[in-house]
Amino acid sequence: THQVHIIGGGLAGSEAAWQLAKRGIKVRLSEMRGSGEMTPAHQTDGLAELVCSNSFRSDDDDKNAVGLLHHEMRRLDSLVMRAGETARVPAGSAMAVDRDVFSAEVQRTLEEHPNVEVVRERIDTLPTDGLTIVSTGPLTAQSLAESIVTATGQERLAFFDAIAPIVHRDSIDMDICWIQSRWNKRTEASNEEGDYINCPMTQEQYLAFHQGLMDGEKTEFREWEKDTPYFDGCMPIEVMASRGIDTLRYGPMKPVGLDNPRDTSPEFPQGRWPYAVVQLRQDNKLGTLWNMVGFQTKLKYGAQVELFRTIPGLENAEFARLGGLHRNTFLNSPMVLDRQLRLKGAEHIRFAGQVTGCEGYVESSAVGLVAGMMAAAELAGETWQGPPRTTALGALLSHITGDAEADTYQPMNINFGLFPPLHEVKKKQRKEAYTSRGKEDMGAWLAQLEAVPA
Ligand code: FAD
Repeated sequence: THQVHIIGGGLAGSEAAWQLAKRGIKVRLSEMRGSGEMTPAHQTDGLAELVCSNSFRSDDDDKNAVGLLHHEMRRLDSLVMRAGETARVPAGSAMAVDRDVFSAEVQRTLEEHPNVEVVRERIDTLPTDGLTIVSTGPLTAQSLAESIVTATGQERLAFFDAIAPIVHRDSIDMDICWIQSRWNKRTEASNEEGDYINCPMTQEQYLAFHQGLMDGEKTEFREWEKDTPYFDGCMPIEVMASRGIDTLRYGPMKPVGLDNPRDTSPEFPQGRWPYAVVQLRQDNKLGTLWNMVGFQTKLKYGAQVELFRTIPGLENAEFARLGGLHRNTFLNSPMVLDRQLRLKGAEHIRFAGQVTGCEGYVESSAVGLVAGMMAAAELAGETWQGPPRTTALGALLSHITGDAEADTYQPMNINFGLFPPLHEVKKKQRKEAYTSRGKEDMGAWLAQLEAVPA
């Protein structure tokens, strides 16, 4: 008999199983691949299969947020990092692995562990009792997805992401842009000055931009993605642009009610409305990340950076995330999960991995790691003290479990915009400052964890 049931033996589920098993806890790990089931992206029956690239991205823990996450996971004895080291192939400052060696190493470690029982089975409903971790990933089987929808409500589980680019606030040129809500409308949650950063465009700039959207190189939907219809609300911006030269000016680039304070005249003392506007809205409680509203796109990343930097005020924009649109099953976690990744109203169920709305191999594994630690603490009757939000793990977890804006919640990679800002540090030294603060606070947190009697 097991103490924790993990559903999904991908990256997050495998990592969670390891964290529990090594703490002496008995785990049942249910993985549907190997029972005659497959996801549209996986190719093998191996646990922790990497479905696309073989890279864990940057391994630089001095200047890079994902590198810092690697560092923290290593300190927490992550199986993914351990197996990644065994399977490592040369990739400069990045960490890349041989995917078959990696998956085999994860699988061997778990299968050989006396506390882990790997069962090849598909789970179709959320268990009604018993500590559970659901880590079924971006391609969660339909039956279980329906069971999750029943538990959370229809609008709380998405089947497509519609990712608008996100810009670091300190890279926006506020000598060109201004803050204002359309018609100066405000709600109780509004900021004093207004809720949007507005980038003004002349007619000439707009027409060139429109052309750029039409001409830019796009990524194709994968064959299996074409079967899942996406809603009009997440139509790619270039598809909208193709419907007519002015469609965007009546949609996401609508200028009405936005007075550009740098374009005043006796006739327009408040400022004139520009020909078109790109609006950015605050995306996290820290106010460090701003979302280009309505700009979900299938443009290739390089084409996005090039085109979006032609927007007045975004010439030097640094992107925390670029736009995209993919098949992706994920919860509105800030709304439905508590700070310990438990489903509100059914606290025996925890979610982990990409289904919580993090993005990427490393992030998914990290959330699996911390979910395992949380479940272990719960079984031991300990009060859980989460990692400080100055660490990469803490920053990611805080974002997922409440700091992100629930209304626009979309999958997110780890990045420094999720960390409490260090405005006082000069920009050039800021990355190092984030990582050294993170490492120090991780050390203090680990020391405190070890001080708790087992
Ligand atoms: P997964 O690794 O997908 O694991 C989920 C597991 O649950 C799977 O093994 C699945 O078979 C199983 N499962 C599902 N439903 C059930 C059920 N009902 N019962 C039992 N088992 C079930 N990230 C990157 O960093 N780099 C990339 O290049 C990259 N490429 C991607 C390409 C595609 C096509 C997709 C869809 C995602 C990609 N990702 C990439 C994003 C993401 O990080 C990975 O999908 C990652 O594997 C997520 O980890 P996970 O553990 O949450 O889910």
